Amino acid sequence: MAAYEYETHEYDVVVVGAGGSGLRATLGMAEQGLRTACVTKVFPTRSHTVAAQGGIAASLGNMGPDHWQWHMYDTVKGSDWLGDTDAMEYLAREAPKAVYELEHYGVPFSRTEEGRIYQRPFGGHTTEFGEGPPVQRTCAAADRTGHAILHTLYGQSLKQKAEFFIEYFAIDLIMSEDGQCQGVLAWKLDDGTLHVFAAKMVVLATGGYGRAYFSATSAHTCTGDGGGMVARAGLPLQDMEFVQFHPTGIYGAGCLITEGARGEGGYLTNSEGERFMERYAPTYKDLASRDVVSRCMTMEIREGRGVGEGKDHIHLNLSHLPPDTLAERLPGISESARIFAGVDVTKEPIPVLPTVHYNMGGIPTNYWGEVLNPTPDHPDRVAPGLMAVGEAGCASVHGANRLGSNSLIDLVVFGRAAAIRAKDVVDPETAVPTPNAASIQQSLDRFDGLRHAAGHVPTAELRLEMQKTMQADAAVFRTDKTLADGCAKMAEVAGKMGDIKVTDRSLIWNSDLMETLELTNLMPSALATVVSAEARKESRGAHAHEDYPDRDDDNWRKHTLSWIEGAEVKLAYRPVHLEPLSPAEKGGIDLKKIAPKARVY
Ligand SMILES: Cc1cc2nc3c(=O)[nH]c(=O)nc-3n(C[C@H](O)[C@H](O)[C@H](O)COP(=O)(O)OP(=O)(O)OC[C@H]3O[C@@H](n4cnc5c(N)ncnc54)[C@H](O)[C@@H]3O)c2cc1C
Repeated sequence: MAAYEYETHEYDVVVVGAGGSGLRATLGMAEQGLRTACVTKVFPTRSHTVAAQGGIAASLGNMGPDHWQWHMYDTVKGSDWLGDTDAMEYLAREAPKAVYELEHYGVPFSRTEEGRIYQRPFGGHTTEFGEGPPVQRTCAAADRTGHAILHTLYGQSLKQKAEFFIEYFAIDLIMSEDGQCQGVLAWKLDDGTLHVFAAKMVVLATGGYGRAYFSATSAHTCTGDGGGMVARAGLPLQDMEFVQFHPTGIYGAGCLITEGARGEGGYLTNSEGERFMERYAPTYKDLASRDVVSRCMTMEIREGRGVGEGKDHIHLNLSHLPPDTLAERLPGISESARIFAGVDVTKEPIPVLPTVHYNMGGIPTNYWGEVLNPTPDHPDRVAPGLMAVGEAGCASVHGANRLGSNSLIDLVVFGRAAAIRAKDVVDPETAVPTPNAASIQQSLDRFDGLRHAAGHVPTAELRLEMQKTMQADAAVFRTDKTLADGCAKMAEVAGKMGDIKVTDRSLIWNSDLMETLELTNLMPSALATVVSAEARKESRGAHAHEDYPDRDDDNWRKHTLSWIEGAEVKLAYRPVHLEPLSPAEKGGIDLKKIAPKARVY
């Protein structure tokens, strides 16, 4: 039994993560007078949200007619009918409110001539329930929208006296014998001390797990830590097979060129200089949804029409756009293209390739952010004391495929919803429960075991093996064979966790140990992804299965649940929520409008 001393802190609410979702939840909790701590492994404004460029979707209608029901329709269609109807309604309806709140908090949005929030077109966002032209729905602060949101929310959270524990790495959830979450154990990276944060409610806002793949647009810190903690607590993850490839990662570097570049008029060409998207998606062309564009690019490359020496990528053209549009609306990506591709966007096309970008799956929640612990009889059973928001969570509003600019709005709508819900379920008058000592000890033992791990495989080596496997076998296109190979290979890779080698035994700024802890979180997410994908015998959204090219609503319109233990994954399914929040006669959407149909753009 590992003996470590730790300091105990007590709060009403502990939020793990200070990206857009964590900060919006922290701010909302603190505004209501709940004693709130935000624990984060990186400085808040360095969270991956800072890199979000293109913008945040809400049907403000500043640039032309728009309606929340059109936004909901686009989200349902974008999700390929796997999203939960109640959560998607909540997202689209609350979006304008959440954006105006951001404006009042001080987010410096770009403006129209009349002084309204500027909105740009984005893929899959349309008018008239998909019958009309593309809509300008994506609110933007130039191409640095996430940066603007993060800085504003951090300032506001400080103003509300939320307490920040910065560069504290959350290791595990502390769970009571009967399954109540009672807090987290964390490791302070700069002095090596350990801390128990006891709380009535823990909110996981730890972001995605893009780094399970070799080439990803996400930060190196996006290691799915929340998912790992949840899996170790015996709770399931949901819909992990759905991984979004963004059409325009810079070839070689993986850095993102925002979809806003196509929103402002950019387009893709193949080696023949052809605007090939016109062939695949005659109506919305380069602004079809991401899974569609990524597949078309992959098809062009496979058929020998890729550009470059290896004919292995595609060109994104912006040079026809007026230089002041580039300077005003896309300054950040002009810079990225220069630094990472050596390209002057006013003169040359940018070399791009579909790159892992977003995880639709995650910790299952209801639309209040409460984590679910489903049983066959109670698919919506709530796990007490635990919430999850942002990319770590799965509400599920993105279903099988997320629309661009629908994540930033998800962060603030559900960060806010978690705070609204906390008002009802967290009583500031009661005492903070004493955290379960056995659960703390279990986590300390795990920590100590990794700290002294003396196997043969260095962390970086095993991580690379995992990333290469995922990249090869759980890719844009999947087949029975690649997925079966992927499952076998990933079981083997995960099996080597027991033989891991950590060389640094210190507790202060030990990046070797931190990356090992992160690998113990990436591994269950990667396993769940490939095993869930292997089981799903259809194509839907981002899951493009060549042996089953069609969507199969009769058998597969259901959420995948995965419980992960070691290298083993157990699967079960839960129904998709088909009921909206409000019936049509009370102003809700006409369900006929969102009935499943073929998904064409
Ligand atoms: C390059 C890029 C551009 C994007 N552009 C857009 C866009 O224009 N519009 C859009 O809608 N979406 C966009 N997205 C998607 C969107 O930005 C992300 O999904 C979103 O920012 C995730 O936010 P989050 O709050 O869930 O987590 P993150 O912003 O990833 O933050 C995670 C937080 O969790 C903390 N954390 C993690 N693990 C631990 C741990 N173990 N202990 C303590 N703290 C921990 C981190 O310190 C961090 O504060 C983009 C994504 C990328 C990668």
